[in-house]
Amino acid sequence: MYKLSGVTKNYHKGRETVAALRGVDLVVEDGEWLAVQGPTGHGKSTLLQILGGLDRPSAGIVEFDGRDLAQLREAEVTNVRARDIGFVFQTFNLIPTLSALENVETALVPLRVSADARRQRATMALEAVGLGDRLPHVPGELSGGQQQRVAIARALVKEPKVLLADEPTGNLDEDTRDEIIGLLETMWRERGLTMVLVTHDSSIARRAQRIGVMKNGRLGFKQSRQGPVVRPAQVQAGPARVPEGTGLEPPDLPSLDELEDSGLPDLEDDGSEPADTVTFD
Ligand code: ADP
Ligand code: MG
Repeated sequence: MYKLSGVTKNYHKGRETVAALRGVDLVVEDGEWLAVQGPTGHGKSTLLQILGGLDRPSAGIVEFDGRDLAQLREAEVTNVRARDIGFVFQTFNLIPTLSALENVETALVPLRVSADARRQRATMALEAVGLGDRLPHVPGELSGGQQQRVAIARALVKEPKVLLADEPTGNLDEDTRDEIIGLLETMWRERGLTMVLVTHDSSIARRAQRIGVMKNGRLGFKQSRQGPVVRPAQVQAGPARVPEGTGLEPPDLPSLDELEDSGLPDLEDDGSEPADTVTFD
């Protein structure tokens, strides 16, 4: 489904450059469930945004279904996203003024589904997540777990190939968390989805087939429920730097001044530099 090679992402803020991804290589097979773990600030959300075509890499290839998302025109990326990629976020991101049914219907608007078919499909999607009796409720009238169910229905109503979830249980209590992960697992199994789930929670990550760990913008692999622990082709070359102390500190990222002082080339985000022209270590 995905094949990423040498994906880097630099954010520029004033004179500072943040290297959020530092050369990620990753293959995600069709139908696989990959969990991505790692401390805050180490690039998990950035990776997910790039997988979802919500952001573009500074360098590298992001092959999705044989096409490089980094090279597609914006309108083409928007189409791929609307058709093939479902998102679930930590904060649900529902529209507060729309009912559950209308929130789910919004995913079908760009696909030019007729109003009748939209309502029918959205109703079925909400029934599938156990909310058939909550169609007219606005988000403010739903619990956190119910809101996340609406968001999952919205992500899946278009029958995407991929579901990308960024800390989907981060705002939920423990019982609700288990319910939501159980629901995602059921959807993944029954619908042949490919799923990438970002979480800092080990007990959730363990349920995936494979666990990736983001550290300092690099992706390594930890363990898997089935088969070998590590697939050599997908492990980063070179040692990953382990943060000191609690492991929760943000990565020690170089400022632009430091990069200039060290005689390394500028990090302009113009996509023209191949990924391996800049070394951070
Ligand atoms: P995680 O999801 O693992 O917590 P992120 O991918 O959100 O990490 O962030 C990785 C690094 O990139 C952090 O240092 C963060 O501050 C920085 N970053 C993320 N998004 C932006 C942005 N839009 N502009 C500038 N810096 C950003
Ligand atoms: Mg994040």
